[in-house]
Amino acid sequence: MSAVPTLSTASMARGACPALDAPMLTGDGYLSRIALVDAISPRELAALCALSERHGNGMIDISARGNLQIRGLTPTSAAALEADVRRLALPLREGLAVEWSPLAGLDPTTDIDPRPLGLAIMARAKDLRGSLAPKLSVVIESCGLIRLDDLLADIRLVATENDVRKGWHILLGGTARQGRVIGFVHEDQAADCVAALLSHLAALGPRTRGRDVDPAGLPEMVSHALEASTPQLLSPHRDAFGLLDLKDGKCALRVALPFGQIQSRQLSAFADHARRCGIESVRPAAEHTLLAFGSRQACTALQAAAKTHGFITDVNDPLRQIDACPGAPSCQSARLDTHALGRLAAEEAGELFDGSLGLHLSGCLKACAHPTAATLVFAGTDDATHLVIDGKTTDTPAKRLFPQTEAAALSALSALMRQERQPGETSRDCLRRLGPERIAAALA
Ligand code: SF4
Repeated sequence: MSAVPTLSTASMARGACPALDAPMLTGDGYLSRIALVDAISPRELAALCALSERHGNGMIDISARGNLQIRGLTPTSAAALEADVRRLALPLREGLAVEWSPLAGLDPTTDIDPRPLGLAIMARAKDLRGSLAPKLSVVIESCGLIRLDDLLADIRLVATENDVRKGWHILLGGTARQGRVIGFVHEDQAADCVAALLSHLAALGPRTRGRDVDPAGLPEMVSHALEASTPQLLSPHRDAFGLLDLKDGKCALRVALPFGQIQSRQLSAFADHARRCGIESVRPAAEHTLLAFGSRQACTALQAAAKTHGFITDVNDPLRQIDACPGAPSCQSARLDTHALGRLAAEEAGELFDGSLGLHLSGCLKACAHPTAATLVFAGTDDATHLVIDGKTTDTPAKRLFPQTEAAALSALSALMRQERQPGETSRDCLRRLGPERIAAALA
């Protein structure tokens, strides 16, 4: 068990990263993150829910990266939580965040299994603990049913889809679309190459991120291992959701949490229901989702009940297109009731949600729920709610809204969309075409 954290060892600052042994101070107390490298049983999930009730405020997140987060802790209860979680002997990920598809080994659309490489990279990174940036992450993309394209990664390895070579394209920084391709590495050299890149990052200092690395100054081992790589155009992909047929006749159910958050009692009831349906294991996954693994019969039975337990079961549910932090009243920093506004948007501004648009509702400018840009952003500040088009919370707002007028602004945006949308045009393209000035004028 780690030492009890103090205000000086914990941080609310961007750049800090919560973990089970390093809880982070947030607007509703300390938050501990539980990262898993494998699935757990429904009973183990229920046990984690009980620990959230005992030590925290009874709220659990599944983060955009697919980690469980227990909220509302104190320094003392966070330490007790850590001890209790370790007693459960779960497959915890320790150290460097190396992430791959939760369907690895089971995905019928790919023969690539990223797990051996991922575990090798984690083992090689152990010696660098404390020397790397806390939020540094490696993403291994096997291009299967569940893709991690939207996750920020300092180092991203993308499986070769249309290449006779067997190995990985390496990108530095950003999402799959933004990352800088530095070359291709053969399978048998991939772990050594990533280990050398990590050592290079550590040598450049504990704040250095993948985006900061100069491709012209790579260590010799890395530049020798890399071959020329043509940036791959990402093939169109719709993330798998609902019932998924897997290898060997197995099945999975993928459902999502509205705003990535649920009461632990509700999640515990879902875990009990899953067990009674015959579900063998469960696993939190990217995009605030939860996977349940079992027979098709078990997954179908659980799917029928998931909505009553508070989960999103329809891939087209507008709530899936909304990212919202806990907001007011949960977080002391919040100046916006993000969840109430999100539910209202889903019910009354349906015109906006055609699958193309991301709505980000942030209680303040810190953007805990969605650090990257979104098509539409509402962010609370002390004196106004900032409406940003195609940007981040900290970008110049298209309009500063008076508090309590956000719902009216959403209705006006929905009406604008009905009026202005051209045949075949998506909501995102329509908003981009109209531009911030025109949109701000429509909200006047
Ligand atoms: S972004 Fe949301 S959760 Fe994060 S500090 Fe601001 S109000 Fe709190």
